[in-house]
Amino acid sequence: MQEKRSEDLKKLEEFLKDNGMSLTFSSAEENYIDYHNDEIVIATHQSHKHIIYTILHEIGHYFLDTHFAEDSKTTTVIEEVLAWDRGYDIGQTLRIDIDDEVWNELMKNSIKEYIEQ
Ligand SMILES: [Zn+2]
Repeated sequence: MQEKRSEDLKKLEEFLKDNGMSLTFSSAEENYIDYHNDEIVIATHQSHKHIIYTILHEIGHYFLDTHFAEDSKTTTVIEEVLAWDRGYDIGQTLRIDIDDEVWNELMKNSIKEYIEQ
């Protein structure tokens, strides 16, 4: 199990490197992309699955084709949904094992935060 886990992380790190990006772990709460440094920053206090899925989600943001000129709650939610969708596809392409139930729950809770803000 442990091996499979680090295998997924290795795949992601390789993918990021191939795309000129890097991965940093942080003790902060948020996960985000530092577009200035092409770096994905991931909070370490999460389960391993959540870490993998969150990295995929952030990669999804990076590769989103849809960008709105206006910044509103609606456009944020649309971008969030699309980033989860894009991230899922990238995960499939990289042959990362995704537990749909855990993925969907994480997606739902994270989008809920934007909606109920
Ligand atoms: Zn997001």
